[in-house]
Amino acid sequence: MRMGIDIGGTKIVAGIVDNSGKVVARKKIFVGHQKSYPVVRDAIADMVLGLLSEKTIPRESLKRIGLACAGQIDKDFKKIIFSPNLGWHNAPIRDDIEALLGIDAFVENDVNAATYGEWRFGAAKGTGHVLGVFIGTGIGGGIIINGKVFRGFRNAGAEIGHIILNPFGYPCNCCNTGCFEAYCGGAYIVERVKKHIKNGYRGKIWELINGDISILNAGHVESGADIGDGLCKNIWNEVLEYLGAGLASMVNLLNPEIIVLGGGVVYGTHHLIEDVKPILKKRSMAASLKNMRIVKAKLKEDAAIIGAAFVEP
Ligand SMILES: [Zn+2]
Repeated sequence: MRMGIDIGGTKIVAGIVDNSGKVVARKKIFVGHQKSYPVVRDAIADMVLGLLSEKTIPRESLKRIGLACAGQIDKDFKKIIFSPNLGWHNAPIRDDIEALLGIDAFVENDVNAATYGEWRFGAAKGTGHVLGVFIGTGIGGGIIINGKVFRGFRNAGAEIGHIILNPFGYPCNCCNTGCFEAYCGGAYIVERVKKHIKNGYRGKIWELINGDISILNAGHVESGADIGDGLCKNIWNEVLEYLGAGLASMVNLLNPEIIVLGGGVVYGTHHLIEDVKPILKKRSMAASLKNMRIVKAKLKEDAAIIGAAFVEP
């Protein structure tokens, strides 16, 4: 039995994972305003102990606690070098959790973990070469080559969200311009539509959201395009074109066997994958794309928990 913990900027979810990769029990805590590393670390340790005692599981029977966190993990899988969501720098979370709980721990980038989870137990099970692209607020990527997570020279690779699709393009939160996520990340898409609505645009999208721009999400933009809203059509077509171009660039580089698409934008839209397929075909080298599948992630919000519980260095 193992445990995986998904450490997000607003909530932290711990799951007990059995040997078949199923989450059999879970616990969630919310991160308040106090996001400092020692406070959150201690809350995580308490959550682990709470979950174990609720389920009357002795801590010796846990083989590992896998910690998944957005951001950069050091090459020894011990420290979170930088976490954009929590503002942590050089947080020695692996050693601290091991010292506090006496259980082996491991720390992994959340999207690497999610991609590994999908490869081992989810949508990419049985394949060798996987590209995982998780489109939520931004875009995270994970790469599996021959059944192993590819992390690059110093564990900082697979930043697919920040491959540059247009050097003169939209500004990205990473301070660069024209990144994949600046075109296709959910927050960026919504922001572009909102800007027009705030400037007075009133199309079919306005009725779709009942005049409440606070609820606007990427699914609304796709639906708006479907019912002929001009603004949504323009913006959504651009999203699809850039998504196709971004994925095609990765296909040409990696020749994956399968692309697993996950994240809120993928789950919240209706025909994103079908729509991007012809663009992917148009933009990829035929040989790199041959027999490749593109599918939706299966493990949903459990992917990082399951992956972190099992992923290997
Ligand atoms: Zn960027």
